[in-house]
Amino acid sequence: MSLYSLSSSSTLLACSTLLILLSWTAPSTSAFSLSDLSSTSPWSAFLNLTGCHLGDRNPVLPTLKNYLHHFGYLPDSVDLSDDSFDDILESALRTYQQNFALDATGHLDLRTIAQLASPRCGVPDIVNGTTSMIAGRIHGRGLYTYFQGEPTWPQRDLTYAFTDVSAVSIDRSVLGAVFGRAFARWAAATPLTFKEVAADAGADITIGFFKGDHGDGEPFDGVLGTLAHAFSPTNGRFHLDAAENWVAEGDVRDSNSRDAVDLESVAVHEIGHLLGMGHSSAADAVMFPTISAGSRRVDLASDDVEGVQRLYGSNPDFRKAMAPTGGERQQRDSSHGEVGLERLGWGAAVGLFLAVVTVNLLDL
Ligand SMILES: [Zn+2]
Ligand SMILES: [Zn+2]
Repeated sequence: MSLYSLSSSSTLLACSTLLILLSWTAPSTSAFSLSDLSSTSPWSAFLNLTGCHLGDRNPVLPTLKNYLHHFGYLPDSVDLSDDSFDDILESALRTYQQNFALDATGHLDLRTIAQLASPRCGVPDIVNGTTSMIAGRIHGRGLYTYFQGEPTWPQRDLTYAFTDVSAVSIDRSVLGAVFGRAFARWAAATPLTFKEVAADAGADITIGFFKGDHGDGEPFDGVLGTLAHAFSPTNGRFHLDAAENWVAEGDVRDSNSRDAVDLESVAVHEIGHLLGMGHSSAADAVMFPTISAGSRRVDLASDDVEGVQRLYGSNPDFRKAMAPTGGERQQRDSSHGEVGLERLGWGAAVGLFLAVVTVNLLDL
């Protein structure tokens, strides 16, 4: 089932999380080799498209076309099984590159390939021809976006519950602490409050971990790739891929695993979707669609704060200190700056992502 069909019927948002940080860590492309890219990612086959250009034929192109169609860059009218690199594909790649702050050449260069191969959110970036991630720039405000119709919660006090956690071995108390911190980050900037309640208490927001097909038309894909997805207000469903190597305790940056994904980072991103936030082109925003494995991004950036406060207003106690240049973010970014594309060794693969798909998301 496509996201489009889902979106036409409800307000589903399936967001997969992933991130790659290529676009802003940027060392020269000669600093890394695509051969270093992990084969763990479900999209690692894109590496075989390096250098592929207009007029070429390649057996992996149908996979790329399906990917670009899924995220809104190719219309339903395109033959997704065709293995030729045509004008429509080149145009779609340019738009994709614009959304991710890459050189809009329409060519499958190394950085574009690395971005494509990284795990990402399942939420389409474009709907009905509207390039959601750059809409904000066009309108002169921030880079944040909303779901179509800008749905929000009518109440300010929200409850959440863990309804399906048997698929992961994370200690229940640890889960509570991680998500508690993630919700608190959004509560600090807004008048919203979040309270955990029992699984059978009819919570506004329900959190569950699932593997593969779990009944909402957005099956999870195993390690990396799509990490999670959530629905727009007031659906409240928040699903995470139980197959990920979730790090819920300790610092994910200290992990020796190439596919370690920081649970709190993904939770903060998905909660943004649950509140009505779409994806942002701002690379430092928690609502940026991708996130590298082994990295942490939990502080709301000014773009996130402006976006959510436009929906709900500001928390009277909100402190500017929480904004963009917080110590943790700084540490994370500098870490990536040092590693850059070389980290793709386990990085392209490394990108993780949360995806939130909303039905009505797209047209942001
Ligand atoms: Zn789901
Ligand atoms: Zn997302």
